[in-house]
Amino acid sequence: MNCDIIAVGSELLTPYRQDTNSLYLTAQLNELGVRISAKTIVGDRREHLVAAVRNALERADIVITMGGLGPTEDDLTREAVAEALGVRLRRNQEIVAALYARFAARRIQITDNNTKQGDVLEGAEALANASGTAPGQWLDTVHNGHRKLVVLLPGPPSELKPMFEGEVLPRLVATIPRRYFATRTLKVAMMGESACDARIAPIYRSYADVETTILAHLGDIQLNLIATKPTRAEAQQRVDALASAIEEELDDVLYSSNGETLERIVLYHLELAGATLATAESCTGGLIAQRLTSISGSSRSFLGGAVVYSNELKTLFADVPTEMIAEHGAVSRDVAVALATGIRARVGSTFGVGVTGIAGPGGGSDEKPVGLVYIAVSDGTTTEVVEKQFSGDRDRIRQYSAQQALDMVRRRLLVARG
Ligand code: ATP
Ligand code: MG
Repeated sequence: MNCDIIAVGSELLTPYRQDTNSLYLTAQLNELGVRISAKTIVGDRREHLVAAVRNALERADIVITMGGLGPTEDDLTREAVAEALGVRLRRNQEIVAALYARFAARRIQITDNNTKQGDVLEGAEALANASGTAPGQWLDTVHNGHRKLVVLLPGPPSELKPMFEGEVLPRLVATIPRRYFATRTLKVAMMGESACDARIAPIYRSYADVETTILAHLGDIQLNLIATKPTRAEAQQRVDALASAIEEELDDVLYSSNGETLERIVLYHLELAGATLATAESCTGGLIAQRLTSISGSSRSFLGGAVVYSNELKTLFADVPTEMIAEHGAVSRDVAVALATGIRARVGSTFGVGVTGIAGPGGGSDEKPVGLVYIAVSDGTTTEVVEKQFSGDRDRIRQYSAQQALDMVRRRLLVARG
């Protein structure tokens, strides 16, 4: 089963209002094994609304609109859905009477335009609105030879949520076949999105019943696997099978097969190895330390770090020789190594990390352009150092550098474990 969601309201097309209802509905519907085929946001214009509803009816088994059920001129959802379906609207006098009673109880003069909130699609049931005036509607119908469920909900989240839970959910559960969702999230660090896809596409294509999406952000790739099946066990079995196949292909570039963050995985491996870590960060300004310390319990493996932005502090806190900085420059392979070994020796950690680079936008030269970063990881005996040329703005370069450093520590610990 799939569902189209239509958010109605010109305010949702401005920079000041977000359609948040559809996120709520998506979560609720996924619980029932219903997939979202598309979401549309449309302003309060009748012809646009009609077209949106028609499109949705073409695509989806279930069409849910939200908003535009109020009494004012720009509340057009009822009329537009009726037109798209080719059905009439009937005024339900009970609803109108209830509206009058509601206003009377509050000693408010009702205006005539309110009565249109009593207009119900032919064949539809009105859904009680516990927190507002406009009732919703539920229509179980056949349109162009296909069964369709059409649901009209009010826009205000405080009205939509109780109506969905109280009125729509029980009807959906009684109407649609029960399906179950299972998901897995695999994560990959420091690999290009297209390179990653090239390797795994042949695998996930052979699992046509599992939806695979790839999200890449700042050196972090998230692979989401989703299966929908008549039983939870079947759904889980399918995503697990695909996850295993991908894990096998990606091997050690995959750092998590359950959605954990890279910093959490690094801390996990450190703890497993009984190892500790300290950092000396120049261009990342403490980003690595920030990510590690965002996790509770990190003090068991992360001792801390120094932000050594100036040359003086590189020497003062991490014992980088001044002659080395004079000879090679602060952004150099040697200084990255000296930072990693220096901080490690200073604090007595198992591993030391050193990062130095040019985050830009200023400070670059032909020889050392913006984005040039050296990252080193040392255990006192062996020091690995990489030279990277990251692209993008200052923030991006810094994020990439931190990600690279964390991933190097992770790989180092994998190797150590054998
Ligand atoms: P009703 O059907 O009750 O008339 P409406 O959407 O026509 O609802 P509006 O006055 O347009 O009523 O909206 C009421 C409030 O609900 C506004 O603050 C609006 O921004 C908010 N709202 C409407 N749709 C959404 C949505 N999809 N997500 C989050 N908020 C929404
Ligand atoms: Mg509106």
